[in-house]
Amino acid sequence: MTATSQFDIVIIGAGPAGLSLARSLSGTALQIAIVEMQSETILANPPEDGRDIALTHTSEKLMHDLGMWAHVPQDQIGTIRDAKVVNGQSPFALHFDSTGSGADYLGRIVPNHLIRQSAYNVVKDQANVTLICDSEVTTVDTNSAEGRVGLKDGTVLRAPLVVAADSRFSGTRRKMGIPANSLDFGRVVIVCEMEHELSHENIATECFHFDQTLAILPMYGNKSSVVVTLPSANAEAVMNMEPQAFADDIAQRFGGSLGKMTLVTKRHPYPLVGVLAKQFVATRFALVGDSAVGMHPVTAHGFNLGLSGAKLLADQIIEAENKGTDIGATAGLKRYETAHRRVVLPLYHGTNALVKLYTDTSVPGRILRDAALRVGSFLPPVKKRILHQLTHIERHAR
Ligand SMILES: Cc1cc2nc3c(=O)[nH]c(=O)nc-3n(C[C@H](O)[C@H](O)[C@H](O)COP(=O)(O)OP(=O)(O)OC[C@H]3O[C@@H](n4cnc5c(N)ncnc54)[C@H](O)[C@@H]3O)c2cc1C
Repeated sequence: MTATSQFDIVIIGAGPAGLSLARSLSGTALQIAIVEMQSETILANPPEDGRDIALTHTSEKLMHDLGMWAHVPQDQIGTIRDAKVVNGQSPFALHFDSTGSGADYLGRIVPNHLIRQSAYNVVKDQANVTLICDSEVTTVDTNSAEGRVGLKDGTVLRAPLVVAADSRFSGTRRKMGIPANSLDFGRVVIVCEMEHELSHENIATECFHFDQTLAILPMYGNKSSVVVTLPSANAEAVMNMEPQAFADDIAQRFGGSLGKMTLVTKRHPYPLVGVLAKQFVATRFALVGDSAVGMHPVTAHGFNLGLSGAKLLADQIIEAENKGTDIGATAGLKRYETAHRRVVLPLYHGTNALVKLYTDTSVPGRILRDAALRVGSFLPPVKKRILHQLTHIERHAR
């Protein structure tokens, strides 16, 4: 016989997006199930994965409000005060400094595994949240009356609302028949952490060479998150370099400005694929986090969007709950979709255009890139808009 359990919301995926949505709803009377493939031991102690997440002021505020910030060790939080974009050997750099933005810094940077851990910590003891770990979702379907989520062990979870937060390669999105545009950049990003002799002075630097893009994000102390983007065909050779040879190469590409550099974590490769779901909602169903939009990491928006999207959806659900209306009604879900897409679409398409410009190795491409940096340097409105995006706290997060 098949066991059936009834909830108000079933969230698929206990990544940072799914968990932060559950935490946003923990003050309600709603019964929430979160289904996760991984074990609870892994959620409690996620392994280091090389990703260091640059967080906007809005995300820092949301993490505070959800109680997550208090679970991140203070000495593991880095501050990005300024950012600089450099095109190879060109003397023109696009410089973003926090001066004049009304904020003391552009953003924070926190290792991804600590974000995941903080999200788990704020959810694990919530009375209205049931974590179902070591459990894979195999079927999902919804109709005008309810959603049904089938697990590998035969259990069926029923709820008036199902939310997928199961990564950019979301199997649930596919099962629900929601198409997605996906863009394979044909590149791999290799991420790791390095210590260095000299201070980074809290400046993030993005440097475009013709064969690689390098980014250094300042972490706490004399430590940086290093992000190397290169054509997929070259990735294996770079992954196989001797650790010190790799570190020396990075140090030299940054002109020795950080002194001697040393690799202090493993190198982690990620194939670069951007994904945008054609719709974020369906009948009694919503997508959040990377399952709605999986960003190229160059503009560091993925989790920032995951967090703000989860907040938008939570607001709709809480409003319906307070009014005693249907939390899975199409009208509320559509309001979430409209508000989130308004933020997502310009960032998704803008990021992809930027990636195209900065990975074009042709001579016209390089000239255009140089011109773009000059225009960016000399056109205050362009810089102002980017700075605003980083440092401004979104109205819904206040
Ligand atoms: C190299 C790199 C650097 C990045 N840097 C930044 C940055 O600086 N700033 C930023 O904002 N973002 C950044 N991001 C993006 C950020 O890491 C992601 O947006 C974020 O981790 C996505 O969270 P999520 O919860 O949506 O998905 P995930 O973290 O992918 O979690 C999905 C969860 O769903 C579970 N799951 C999947 N399928 C099933 C199933 N069938 N049944 C049950 N469970 C399932 C998985 O086990 C997983 O736990 C970066 C990404 C990369 C790759």
